[in-house]
Amino acid sequence: MSNDIDVIIIGAGVVGLAIAAEISRANKNVFVFEKNRTFGQETSCRNSEVIHAGMYYPENSLKAEFCVSGNNLLYEFCEKYSINHKRLGKLIVAADDNETKEVEKLYRQGLKNGISGLQMLTHDEIKRLEPNVEAVAGLLSPSTGVVDSHDLMKTFHGCAKENGVAFAFGAEVISIDKIAGGYEVGIQDSDRTYAVTGSVVINSAGLFSDRVAQLAGIDIEQAGYKLHFCKGAYFSLNPKVRKLVNRLVYPVPEQAGLGTHVTLSLDGSMRLGPNTKYVDDLEYTVDERDRVDFYQAVCRYLPSIEIDDLAPDFAGVRPKLQAKGKGFCDFIIRDETDKGLPGLINLIGIESPGLTAAPAIAQYVAGIVEKII
Ligand SMILES: Cc1cc2nc3c(=O)[nH]c(=O)nc-3n(C[C@H](O)[C@H](O)[C@H](O)COP(=O)(O)OP(=O)(O)OC[C@H]3O[C@@H](n4cnc5c(N)ncnc54)[C@H](O)[C@@H]3O)c2cc1C
Repeated sequence: MSNDIDVIIIGAGVVGLAIAAEISRANKNVFVFEKNRTFGQETSCRNSEVIHAGMYYPENSLKAEFCVSGNNLLYEFCEKYSINHKRLGKLIVAADDNETKEVEKLYRQGLKNGISGLQMLTHDEIKRLEPNVEAVAGLLSPSTGVVDSHDLMKTFHGCAKENGVAFAFGAEVISIDKIAGGYEVGIQDSDRTYAVTGSVVINSAGLFSDRVAQLAGIDIEQAGYKLHFCKGAYFSLNPKVRKLVNRLVYPVPEQAGLGTHVTLSLDGSMRLGPNTKYVDDLEYTVDERDRVDFYQAVCRYLPSIEIDDLAPDFAGVRPKLQAKGKGFCDFIIRDETDKGLPGLINLIGIESPGLTAAPAIAQYVAGIVEKII
């Protein structure tokens, strides 16, 4: 029996969209199911929009590999399709000698990961670049930048549609059953449930990717697929302090995040965040009471800001494999043949740098699909 569809993609965040655009170049019949009314309504529209360089992740990890290659691919893609972006550069700053050692570690890790242009800076060199920043030393990353994530997703969506990809919005995947030669996938939309069959199923369901894997019968605790929600909130800075920095400024990273940093939007406005708070439920409120913590985190290296300059902005939630207090976890991106589910490709734990890595992940997944059909 032949299947309705070659490739079923679950989720139209930046990763699902990039995969759809890439796979459909090879003339496959691709269908994307997205539970929300349009694409990019969850984590992909609630992030720092930073094109990371890739110095935070151990060499040979998928995060390092796809961040470094995704960085190049993303700039190329943005230039080709005139997507709004800026190669602003970034500074990771050290407040004391202990932090300098941490920054030096990042420098060495960045070199191992193959990032070009990294440079350690002294206090005086930092002052020349960023007169308002206080630091004893720092790491300059010229290939870090920012991108308009909506524009990026709109372009992936447009490319996919041009290649013939079909999108069903308001269509939630509620079941996945193995059948001969593929999968039967149950869909719930606003007024009916129905099923389609596909040879390959790609689970790029972001915060819900563990639950989607569970639909296919995977024991997510045993497989190590259980996700932990880790909220990251932002405060905006009053427009009167717009010109305080010329590039992104980060402190040394924390255990679960990159540290409360200063990002610059493409319109020049400044934002502080994200912090890290493990939460049980998905919700996106920003607690006004966190203002003091944000202020204290940032005024160490940007002393001219004042607490009244900060206003609650928005929050995103990271789909983390790393439980609270635990160590580094890599992206999981794999075909599940060894679990008796050939042609089911799971993408789990696609937290930062998922936006940067999206085009590289898409090429990798397309390579897996190519071997299957
Ligand atoms: C606070 C924060 C800051 C970040 N900053 C950066 C950054 O600066 N740079 C960077 O590179 N990365 C950053 N990231 C990470 C980046 O945002 C994510 O890695 C990326 O957006 C993940 O995209 P995705 O497509 O996997 O997930 P999502 O955008 O969550 O998309 C998944 C989609 O699947 C859909 N879905 C779920 N379940 C179902 C179902 N059963 N049926 C149908 N559809 C379903 C959802 O509705 C959703 O649209 C940040 C993340 C956070 C939270």
